[in-house]
Amino acid sequence: MNRPCNAKIVATLGPASADRATIEALVKAGADVFRLNFSHGTHADHQQRLELIRSIETDLGRPIGVLLDLQGPKLRVGTFANGPVTLVEGESFRLDLDRSTPGDATRAPLPHPEIFAALQSGAELLLDDGRLRLVVERCGPDFAETRVLNGGPLSDRKGVNVPGVVLPLSALTAKDRADLDFGLSLGVDWIALSFVQRAADIEEVKAIVQGRAGIVAKLEKPAAIHSLDAILDVTDAVMVARGDLGVEMPAEQVPAIQKRIVRACRQRGLPVIVATQMLESMVSAPVPTRAEASDVATAIYDGADAVMLSAESASGKYPVESVAMMDRIIAQTEADPQYREAIDASHTPPAANTADAIGWAARSVAGLLDVAALVAYTSSGSSALRMARERPRASILGITPRDSTARRLALVWGVQPVLSPDVPDVDGMTRLAVDTAKTLGFAVPGQTLVIAAGVPFGTPGSTNLLRIAQVD
Ligand code: PGA
Ligand code: MN
Repeated sequence: MNRPCNAKIVATLGPASADRATIEALVKAGADVFRLNFSHGTHADHQQRLELIRSIETDLGRPIGVLLDLQGPKLRVGTFANGPVTLVEGESFRLDLDRSTPGDATRAPLPHPEIFAALQSGAELLLDDGRLRLVVERCGPDFAETRVLNGGPLSDRKGVNVPGVVLPLSALTAKDRADLDFGLSLGVDWIALSFVQRAADIEEVKAIVQGRAGIVAKLEKPAAIHSLDAILDVTDAVMVARGDLGVEMPAEQVPAIQKRIVRACRQRGLPVIVATQMLESMVSAPVPTRAEASDVATAIYDGADAVMLSAESASGKYPVESVAMMDRIIAQTEADPQYREAIDASHTPPAANTADAIGWAARSVAGLLDVAALVAYTSSGSSALRMARERPRASILGITPRDSTARRLALVWGVQPVLSPDVPDVDGMTRLAVDTAKTLGFAVPGQTLVIAAGVPFGTPGSTNLLRIAQVD
């Protein structure tokens, strides 16, 4: 029987994976969703990649998700007069708004008034992915006098993080707005928002997106961790963005935060992606470190929906090998008897509503009878999401007449999205579910399917029907 992996793979596309043959090889190796990273590349690059994905999707007859990752308000220092400078521990260093005077060893422009508006003495600034650390001693609306805590070289346009401070910044820059419009016109399935600080950041994007794509909140700032519940109340999905999170917070806190976020998302039935450095050494080597293999497996045992590759698939030497390796780690982990124990032990009771009652009943039936597959007939995707929330033993066929739903479901744990025609009634739906399960190799005559749907069809969030069907 066909039982594909439950956890999904998100692969970032970039110069190492921009041609049709490579993208197709990535799909065949196990990529379910592609990330277009708008921190790099031109609109033309991204459009070309998206067109290739859609054409491969048609050829292979398998829905593929596309996630547009917005750069967000990445803060940077200005430029230096005579190339890189070296900051020395214990010495003072000034940052100010004067971008017309290039920096030197004693000061640098920092062209972000919002930072100065929010700074207080004692606040720390991290430069260049946290390699350099400064503490603010005195500040005003257009300057900060700092002391160097960790010195080192600093050069033009290096990144700045201000971990302890909620900045009065929109999560959308002017570039993000243009990128968002462009991405929506191309028809991407998910929009990832970087450096989310508060629930309002998500609401701002939702107001623009108007349901045309799902929203992924990238959790990479302490402020977002502090507002976790409020953010989960409004977002459609989450990324544990460990790259920036590990700069903004001590690296030793990242594992516990990752587990907390994954658990909170599973509790709510929100798809959650664990991202960054998962197989980092495969950027330049054909095999990962043992620690990396273990890191991917940990996310799988925790029940994350998806694991992500960044530079490994976008700019590394082994993009296809990285996806294939991730796929093998997922398959091995899910085949381990301890995996089912871990998933069941971390199951949280459903909420007291009809959709969860149906999802929970489907899981119970699958535990009691020998069910070949679960089927969610879904227009918005919510029936499939509520079923996936239960982390059942059998695969979930997410059958939908909407290609946008099928593509979005490519990110979701255990769901195999299938595009189908509209059905007239419950009998028609049952027929479709049985035929689909047989055609795709999920069931043979004599086996049992559990089917969930919402009647009347096409009303989002109306899951109210559970049917047990015999495959004929
Ligand atoms: P990025 O986000 O790759 O866009 O920075 C992911 C992360 O920070 O982990
Ligand atoms: Mn990031």
